[in-house]
Amino acid sequence: MGSNRTNFRVIGLFLLLISMLLFAGGCNNKNNVLSAKQLTDNTPLTVKVLDVGQGDAILIRGGGQVILIDTGDVPDRDKLVSFLKSEKITTIDKLIITHPHADHLGGFAALVGQFAIKQIIDSGQITTTALFRQYLTAAQKKQIAFTVASEGDQFDLGSGILLRVLAPGKPLLTGTDSDLNNNSIVLRLTFGKFSMLFAGDAEQVEETQILKKYSREMKSTVLKVGHHGSRTSSSLPFLAAVAPEAAVISVGLNNDYHHPHPSILKRYEKQKTTVFRTDLHGTVTIAINGENYTIMREKGENAK
Ligand SMILES: [Zn+2]
Repeated sequence: MGSNRTNFRVIGLFLLLISMLLFAGGCNNKNNVLSAKQLTDNTPLTVKVLDVGQGDAILIRGGGQVILIDTGDVPDRDKLVSFLKSEKITTIDKLIITHPHADHLGGFAALVGQFAIKQIIDSGQITTTALFRQYLTAAQKKQIAFTVASEGDQFDLGSGILLRVLAPGKPLLTGTDSDLNNNSIVLRLTFGKFSMLFAGDAEQVEETQILKKYSREMKSTVLKVGHHGSRTSSSLPFLAAVAPEAAVISVGLNNDYHHPHPSILKRYEKQKTTVFRTDLHGTVTIAINGENYTIMREKGENAK
């Protein structure tokens, strides 16, 4: 009996030590991840990379402002609208169209009738598509303030939250494999110790251009991966400069483009960046309080 009690005591002490170690390990997480409990609706800044299939739509809420980067593609319009409504959004303060491809501009027509849009921030590129013409016509008809962004511009969202434009430069790039992609608006959001880079569909040429000018200011906590994880983007020098702890790929399940490319996923893995994907994880939410941040996925396991 006596020795049994001793054994139990030893086991008890062992379990206590293990749980203390686990607890300490949890607190020392290198990403300063907040527990879900610490996270409340009052988080001063949230970024949601919305699950809109193959395309981009990213919602930023902070400083009392609603910012939407891109609008997803035409088939996912209803999904976008119902998401914004579920967030009780009635006004979009700034709608940023990184570039006029359908998978970024396609949802605009649905938004313009249902939400007040105060300002459009555009890359200044022109295309001949019907979608683009309708966008310009609707923006004009609704008399939405229309700003063409270029490198060096900065938007102060209030409460210490800044959104800086790193590209496109002036003049716009020409003669690349995709000028529309390579003149994407690329943004860096900063709040306290946190930063996030939104790469639009920037390909290697634009990445190199940004590197030349901003190499020392590109390091970011989180990266919205360029061009849906295509191998045209996430070039090694660019990734090394951004050095994100986490990366989010906005991509449709089983998409026709086979995004993201396996070699690009490997590149992030090699750099020990945790990758989140909207096709596997649904909407990816990043909640930031200036000191710490946490990333939540709607479904699924971490991508490797
Ligand atoms: Zn795209």
